[in-house]
Amino acid sequence: MSDPDCIFCKVVRRELPSEIVFENDELIAFNDIGAQAPTHLLIIPKTHIATLNDLGAEHADLVGRMVLKARDLAAERGIDDDGYRLVANCNAHGGQTVYHIHLHLLGGRQLKALG
Ligand code: 5GP
Ligand code: ZN
Repeated sequence: MSDPDCIFCKVVRRELPSEIVFENDELIAFNDIGAQAPTHLLIIPKTHIATLNDLGAEHADLVGRMVLKARDLAAERGIDDDGYRLVANCNAHGGQTVYHIHLHLLGGRQLKALG
């Protein structure tokens, strides 16, 4: 499913330019436009799911593969041993600004405590 007005669906449809670093039939990963660290990738499903609250049991494998892909991308960039952070924000208090679920993969420098 694709949402005509969603920014990340537009990335998937190539209606918005982005620096895509990985794509397969169900996932896409690209550089965050406002990078907060030397590595700041977004890993998203191609299908439109607005928030973590919209996930069902049927999405368990998809979410698992998002995490594994993030792990693989960290290894490819050589940041796995030093470490990295995976973040998924949900709704206003979580700081979500794009309502299409995504994992942030952050690394390449010492990250500060969450808060
Ligand atoms: P959120 O705040 O929803 O967890 O994260 C959304 C992220 O998407 C932000 O880090 C923001 O910089 C990034 N972002 C927003 N619009 C675009 C865009 O058009 N292209 C790319 N590559 N990243 C975007
Ligand atoms: Zn979307």
